[in-house]
Amino acid sequence: MKEIITKAIVIRSVLYKDNDKILTLLTPQYGKISANLKGANKPQAKLKFAGQLFCFAEFNIVFYGQNGTVKTASEIESFFDISKDFKKLSIGSAILEISDKTTKDGENCYSFFLNTLKALQALVYSQTNPKLVLAKFMLESFKFSGYGLYLDKCKSCGAKFNSNIFLNIETGAFVCSLCKSQECMPVSLGAFNVLKVLNNTEYENLKSISVHEHHLDEVLVILNANFTGKFEIILKSLKNL
Ligand SMILES: [Zn+2]
Repeated sequence: MKEIITKAIVIRSVLYKDNDKILTLLTPQYGKISANLKGANKPQAKLKFAGQLFCFAEFNIVFYGQNGTVKTASEIESFFDISKDFKKLSIGSAILEISDKTTKDGENCYSFFLNTLKALQALVYSQTNPKLVLAKFMLESFKFSGYGLYLDKCKSCGAKFNSNIFLNIETGAFVCSLCKSQECMPVSLGAFNVLKVLNNTEYENLKSISVHEHHLDEVLVILNANFTGKFEIILKSLKNL
């Protein structure tokens, strides 16, 4: 038997049997952990909060072999307000899905964890456009996965960009009109500039950025295409944005 105490965010929660829940927890030092939360679905359950998505708590988990069971949990910060606003909820769900898909079991992922935490904090507390938070979160997720976007010049020939910019979906590189191939999608200068600004802006300062909604929508299409190209996963939660 092994016992650990760790901070964690509940990124997936699935009902199991009648009253238990199987949680997927994102932790800073152990990566993703799967743990059973017994009796979480009972009306009077003391640890009911710990079975809900977006819960950020300190968990005490006991392992018998590979299987973890939550012994206790104490809430650190509540992000449940995200669920009260439909737009925030869809963006929040996308953040959790991306966290789940880009991190591995049992691997130290401090920067991934911090990125998810900052994004949820920006989503719940600030007046920032939720789509901006998601775009920033995706940009940072690419960085931490080793797929950071290069936004200075054409990745192929090194030329400075004028207004003709293309994204190669297979390589994730932005290229000029001379270097574009069949796998490229056009990117407007407006959307490209939003990406550059976002790349250099911390979560705390996102609220000071003003962007056109159509540029932001294009940015999310670009980031989503790049995500599918890199991770070979289609994000379910982005379909409804
Ligand atoms: Zn070029």
